[in-house]
Amino acid sequence: MIRENLEKVRENIVQACERAGRSPEDVTLIAVSKTKPVEMIMEAYQAGVRDFGENKVQEMMDKIPQLPSDIRWHMIGHLQRNKVKYLIGKAAMIHSVDSLRLAEEISREAVKQNTVMKILIEVNAAGEESKFGVSPAETEALVRAAAGLPGIRVCGLMTIAPLTENPENNRIFFKILKNLSVDIEGKNIDNVHMACMSMGMTGDYETACEEGATFVRVGTGIFGERSWQI
Ligand SMILES: *Cc1c(COP(=O)(O)O)cnc(C)c1O
Repeated sequence: MIRENLEKVRENIVQACERAGRSPEDVTLIAVSKTKPVEMIMEAYQAGVRDFGENKVQEMMDKIPQLPSDIRWHMIGHLQRNKVKYLIGKAAMIHSVDSLRLAEEISREAVKQNTVMKILIEVNAAGEESKFGVSPAETEALVRAAAGLPGIRVCGLMTIAPLTENPENNRIFFKILKNLSVDIEGKNIDNVHMACMSMGMTGDYETACEEGATFVRVGTGIFGERSWQI
């Protein structure tokens, strides 16, 4: 089932990119494997997936030693500062940086371990009360501040769009992220390259691809429904 789901998702990404005149190679599919067992992750791996997303540090740490070492693990969930140290050297990228204090902690730990952590700034594009992320108006300031820290590379922006039946409703939020990204890139800030845009989930990844996503984060569409929601 996972293999067929993946084929479908990949095909949808190709078609969305074609509609937008983009190259499908510019979109990386992250299989969001939170709550799913290593056996299912291995199935996706065998079907060619190398990028997996988790939203809990402990769960990611449990899974990493049980799975092939060429997997790139993406932290996509809200992150507490006291958990940052576990991710350094393990996660390929942290998508959910939403405060300077968190960026400072990532910087401190990365420097301590003599490495550089790639991060994205999480933007609450729809201004939802329930969501983490900085407002569009605060984004540039956080990008600048984070980029000034050692041990961090700011690679772009991430957003979680509202849950909706109709993905067209979220197009506006993907456009907001794209515009912000282009604006900030145009300011030529040292140590900032807004190459990445992480946006789009099972319900709206095709629209996100049309609007310039470079990472889409798909869980349900690959692994099926989660039995417990987190
Ligand atoms: C769970 C999750 C996803 C995947 O959601 P689906 O709707 O199952 O595709 C994507 N991004 C984040 C941040 C998530 O927490």
